[in-house]
Amino acid sequence: MSSSTSYPIAAITTAPGRGGIGIVRISGPNLSPFIHAFFGQELKPRHAHYLAFSDADGQPIDEGIALYFPGPHSYTGEDVLELQGHGGTAVLRRVLARCFEIGAAFDLRHAQPGEFTQRAFLNDRLDLAQAEAVADLIDASSEAAAKGAMASLSGAFSQQINALADRIIHLRMLVEATLDFPEEEIDFLEKYQAAAQLQSIDDELQQLRRQAKQGQVMRDGLHVVLAGQPNVGKSSLLNALAGDDIAIVTDIAGTTRDRVTQLIHIEGIPIHIVDTAGLRDTEDTVESIGIERSWQEIAKANVILHLLDARNPQDTSDQDIMSRLPSSTPTLQVFNKCDLLSSPLQLDNENENQLLISAQTGQGLDQLRQRLLHIAGWSPHTESPWLARERHLHALERCDQHLQLAKLHAQHNDQILDLFAEELRLAHNELCEITGVFTSDDLLGEIFSSFCIGK
Ligand code: GDP
Repeated sequence: MSSSTSYPIAAITTAPGRGGIGIVRISGPNLSPFIHAFFGQELKPRHAHYLAFSDADGQPIDEGIALYFPGPHSYTGEDVLELQGHGGTAVLRRVLARCFEIGAAFDLRHAQPGEFTQRAFLNDRLDLAQAEAVADLIDASSEAAAKGAMASLSGAFSQQINALADRIIHLRMLVEATLDFPEEEIDFLEKYQAAAQLQSIDDELQQLRRQAKQGQVMRDGLHVVLAGQPNVGKSSLLNALAGDDIAIVTDIAGTTRDRVTQLIHIEGIPIHIVDTAGLRDTEDTVESIGIERSWQEIAKANVILHLLDARNPQDTSDQDIMSRLPSSTPTLQVFNKCDLLSSPLQLDNENENQLLISAQTGQGLDQLRQRLLHIAGWSPHTESPWLARERHLHALERCDQHLQLAKLHAQHNDQILDLFAEELRLAHNELCEITGVFTSDDLLGEIFSSFCIGK
């Protein structure tokens, strides 16, 4: 694959706001004439030139470092020029405007979100999973996520995908070769131990899926919704988990009328906790809108924390709430205010989704955190070395489905080799979609448009 772009692009590549340094980046197939027009001299490749960035009248807009990376040894694989000046919005805008003045003769255009990285992908500098990791590294909200994104960026995830793809290719080659010699078809499965090969590919895929799930949890985190009657301590629990006064706590029922969302981290896993309006029958219009929103949040949750008052564990209103909670969403029944119990509350020992806590004293919160991680599918022992996205999980799942179908053909020994071959081809395609070997333009557009400008 190579870039079909003929025009150069430019953007301020550092974050908006004030900073010591700000960078304008330009990428294009041939920047030499542009550089000459800007500086009246050539720039030595990969050499820091301290220069004035001047306007059309020769007045300096800023002074800074100009760095020139000729393609293909650059981030985008094209010629790249970086102008590192002072990090103020106005000065950077003036430098960029000057670039466009000079660049008009060369059809210089404003870079679209993610366009630098998209060019790097199109020029084979990065595969698609690595390009996604660029955005994930920038967006990483914890050290663990940043570490995982860096591992994906350096190709750890892609290497595993490619290794699996190679094994499928090998099997495909054997099948396709056999298809050319129909008289050998009968023996194929036994001769090449196709079923055993397939089983070992499948084992590898299952391991990869487990790691990818962990990597996706590390990237996207969990949406945990606090649900329950008013006054059971939802806001107090949010504050206790966040270690801060995020939500208003009072003993007046119905104070939380809208969602309050807080991002916390448990062992580096991002957890988005949503505090919702207490669920009860009410005549109050505003409160009932809040309650409706609570149900909407509950429907979207990855995990529901159903909070109850430990002093009143059999409350009929809680039974009503329970019966309305979506049965497919993992739910923890959390009995709060255990510090106020006059006699110990006996929970069902068999049910590990019941917990006793006190948002006020902190009792039981560690178990709650561990339970949340467990439900997220997070296990510290199979920690994923890299980040993954929902898109990757879906591709791996589809790959799995095709492998299972291929296995069925092998097991039944139905000798329909072309069906076996077809399922292997489809499984292989799914892996290629992760690294971007086969990817539709729509998908590429979707992925790169979620980047920020300048990346
Ligand atoms: P929400 O309406 O469910 O959000 O409940 P709040 O968090 O506003 O708490 C209602 C009342 O219960 C407040 O007076 C809190 O201080 C109190 N409360 C919350 N959790 C606990 C707890 O674990 N122990 C005790 N003793 N009081 C609590």
